[in-house]
Amino acid sequence: MSNRTFTMIKPDATRKGNTGAILEMINNGGFRIAAMKMVHLSKEKAGEFYAVHKERPFYGELVDFMSSGPITAAILEKDNAVDDFRKLIGATNPAQAEEGTIRKKFAASIGENAIHGSDSDENAKIEGDFFFSKLEQF
Ligand code: GDP
Repeated sequence: MSNRTFTMIKPDATRKGNTGAILEMINNGGFRIAAMKMVHLSKEKAGEFYAVHKERPFYGELVDFMSSGPITAAILEKDNAVDDFRKLIGATNPAQAEEGTIRKKFAASIGENAIHGSDSDENAKIEGDFFFSKLEQF
């Protein structure tokens, strides 16, 4: 099991000024920041990142949303990083997210849900490498 995961603080959370508060929760959760930057994704790049969801009915909305403003992308390190981070962010739909999770606190809806977390070690590596060169991963 790898000890790294990948996250994005999404455009809704950036717009609401929640980036700092979310980073504090990540820090308090015991994750070390191994890479981080703010990026405004083009529609093309957002579409490429979410290509696995191409056939889903919400793909167009997701691409529009993810390219609607800046995000903060980061690689995070901790033992059992992928699973522990999914626990910290909570369910995709904030209505089902547990108390104390990032989505419970900051997400407005299933689409505008404040934060991304990789769902496997394999995707964590692919997603981290999508945003960061080897020289930018510490
Ligand atoms: P995640 O792994 O918890 O992020 O969830 P998924 O991989 O299932 O979906 C990826 C992202 O697509 C979610 O985080 C949402 O931003 C978005 N999404 C998922 N379901 C819906 C939906 O029904 N409507 C819209 N607009 N967006 C959705």
